[in-house]
Amino acid sequence: MLGEIEQLLNVQRVDQTLHDASSHVDRLRAHRQQLEERIDRERASVSALADRLRQMEIESHSKNLEVDNLDMNIRGYQKRLDEGIISFKEMEDLRTKIDLEKARISQLEDEALDGMESLEGARADLSSARDELGGREDALRAQIAEVDRQIEAALAHVAAVAAEREGHLVAAPAYLLAQYSALRSKFPNPIATLDHGTCSGCKLRVSGNTAERVRGGMGIVTCEHCSRILYLSSD
Ligand SMILES: [Zn+2]
Repeated sequence: MLGEIEQLLNVQRVDQTLHDASSHVDRLRAHRQQLEERIDRERASVSALADRLRQMEIESHSKNLEVDNLDMNIRGYQKRLDEGIISFKEMEDLRTKIDLEKARISQLEDEALDGMESLEGARADLSSARDELGGREDALRAQIAEVDRQIEAALAHVAAVAAEREGHLVAAPAYLLAQYSALRSKFPNPIATLDHGTCSGCKLRVSGNTAERVRGGMGIVTCEHCSRILYLSSD
């Protein structure tokens, strides 16, 4: 095999390794992103529970305020009734108002009792969700730390392969590297074997003349269909 072909094959081999290593880094980063998003979702579900509890507490508080207001109204009506310097019609109106407001208080107090149970349930839900979140988040953070170690190792591998590539580039002639780079932008394997007269890159049969030139080791020979650089496999 021509020395130049061997040099280009070395470049092609490290380029493929570099491509695989970079894809590996990309996959690890995507996985890391998914783990971060899971933590965000877990947190969001706990804060939704906290929001729900806060809303229930606000509703409960406003019911208590309403009871206080009604109670104050009733005492005001009662005072006017007790002082007795009003007409019979006004006394009837006041008694009706007192009855209505007492009924409303009783309804609010029933609701408050139910609300207490719901509040306790919501507090318990939030508390256990917070406890579980802690454990789950720790586990996810540990997974992220492990992925970070893998990313670091993969990046070190990429850097080592890139350095190796530089070494191979120095060895090969510049005009061939330019030809290789142009082909590499189209195919992952710009250097292809000639198998029984067929280009292993595009799977098309080359002319007898081309095949002869490859077999005879007559310089750099390219496939007339895809322009890949052809060589005879040693086996
Ligand atoms: Zn071809």
